[in-house]
Amino acid sequence: MTKNSAKIVIIGGGFGGLFTALELHGAGEVTLINDEDHFLFKPMLYEYLSGEVEAWHIAPDCRELLENQANFIKDTVAEIDLSGKTVELVGRKQAISYDVLVISPGAATNYAGVEGAEQFSLPFRSLNDANHLRRRMTEELDRIQPDAAPQDTRAALTFAIVGGGASGVELATKMADLLRDAVKRRALRGEPRVVIIEMADRLVPGMGEEIRKYVENALEEFRVEVHTDTRVIRVTEKSITLEHGHSQTEMQTAGVVWVAGVRPNPLIQTLGIETDRRGLIVVEPTLQVRNYPNVFALGDVAFYADVVPTLAGTAQLAFQQSHLCAQNVRAFIQGDKLRSKHFAELGEALSLGTEHAAVLSAGKVIGGPLARQARFAMYTARLPTWHHRLRVGASWFFEGTQPRPLQPLGF
Ligand SMILES: Cc1cc2nc3c(=O)[nH]c(=O)nc-3n(C[C@H](O)[C@H](O)[C@H](O)COP(=O)(O)OP(=O)(O)OC[C@H]3O[C@@H](n4cnc5c(N)ncnc54)[C@H](O)[C@@H]3O)c2cc1C
Repeated sequence: MTKNSAKIVIIGGGFGGLFTALELHGAGEVTLINDEDHFLFKPMLYEYLSGEVEAWHIAPDCRELLENQANFIKDTVAEIDLSGKTVELVGRKQAISYDVLVISPGAATNYAGVEGAEQFSLPFRSLNDANHLRRRMTEELDRIQPDAAPQDTRAALTFAIVGGGASGVELATKMADLLRDAVKRRALRGEPRVVIIEMADRLVPGMGEEIRKYVENALEEFRVEVHTDTRVIRVTEKSITLEHGHSQTEMQTAGVVWVAGVRPNPLIQTLGIETDRRGLIVVEPTLQVRNYPNVFALGDVAFYADVVPTLAGTAQLAFQQSHLCAQNVRAFIQGDKLRSKHFAELGEALSLGTEHAAVLSAGKVIGGPLARQARFAMYTARLPTWHHRLRVGASWFFEGTQPRPLQPLGF
C-alpha cells in the first residue's frame, strides 16, 4: 500500500463518514458507501417536518457533495470481513476490498423490547420518517368533521411522543405548533393534545438547569402534556399503555412517535470485536479498532473514552471525530505517528416550536426568536462543503424559513 494507491473504504455517509470522506481527498482511492443517496443533517429534521426547511437544504446528494473527490456507492453493507479486508454489499455479487476501513453506520431506534413498539410506533430518524409523521398528522386532521365537538377534536389529535430527551421536546413543540395552526386554519373547535412520556424523573436529562428552564416554559406555553416517571408497557395501532407508580392507564392515540433511545447499528454485532455493554465498538484514542490498526470507527457506533459525557451519541461528536479520523488515516498510510484528541461541547441548540429556540453557547443561554435565528446561522456553518453552505445560506436569507401549514391531502 502506497500513498495515492491505498484503497480507503468508508461505511456510512453521515456526520462521521461523509465528513471523513470530504477530508481525505488525495489520500488514496476513497470510496464512500451509504444506503441512502443523500447525507442527512439530522438536527434539522424537525424543521423539515414543519416545512421550515426543504429536503435539498438538509439532505444534499452525496455524489454532488463529493464531486470527483471520492467514489460513491449507494448500497447497504451486509457484512464486513476484517481478516480478509473485504466488505460485502447487498446489491453486488463481488465484495469490495480495502487497505483502510472507516466504520460509521450510525445508530438505530431502540424499542427496548416494548410490546408493539416497533410494529406500531413511528420512528423519527430519516426524511421518510418525517414524511410519514407529517402525513399521519394531516390524515387525522382530514378525518375531523367541521362541526366536531372540542373533545372529539382533542381525541382525534392525541399524539404521544415516547422519550423526553432533546428529540422528544423538539418534536413535541413542533407538532403542537403545527397541529394548533391547522386546527385554527380549518376553523375546528377544540385543541390538539401532544403528550411526552419519559421514564426518568425529568426531561432533557444531561442538559444544564438553565436550558431546562427554557424547555419547561416552552412546553407549558405550547400546552404539551408531560408524564415523567412513566413507563410504556404496550403500543397498539390506536393506543398506548402507561405505567406510573403501580397503576396502569391506556390512552387512545392517533399516533405514537418513538424517540426514547438508540442502539448501535446491527452491523456492529456481526464483527466479533470488542464492544462495551451498550454494544459500541471500543476504539483506541486514535479511533483505531483494537487489534485492527487499519480499521477506524467513529460516531454513534464508537465508544471513545476522552470525551465530555454529554457529547456521546451526538452529531457534534461524530463531526469533530471526522477531522481526527481523516488525519489519522492519512498518517497511517504514510507511516506517520497517529494522534488523539479530547472532544468538548461546541454548544447546544434546541428548536422550540416554529418560532422559538434555546441556544447555549459559552455558558450563556439565549431564547426566543433571536435564538431561532442563531440556531439557523450555527447550523448553516456546519453543513457540508462551502458550496452547499452558500446555496442554503442564501436560500434561508432571501427566501425565509417559514413553516408550511398542514394542508388537507390532495390540496
Ligand atoms: C431526529 C434527530 C435529531 C438529532 N439532533 C441532534 C442535535 O441537535 N445535535 C446533535 O449533536 N446530534 C443530534 N442527533 C444525533 C446525530 O444525528 C447523530 O449522533 C449523528 O448523526 C451520528 O453520526 P454518524 O456518522 O455516527 O451516523 P449518521 O449520521 O446516522 O450516519 C450513518 C449513515 O450510515 C448509513 N448506514 C447505516 N447502515 C448502513 C449500512 N449497513 N450500509 C450502508 N450505509 C449504512 C445511514 O443511512 C446513514 O446515512 C440527532 C439525531 C436524530 C435522529
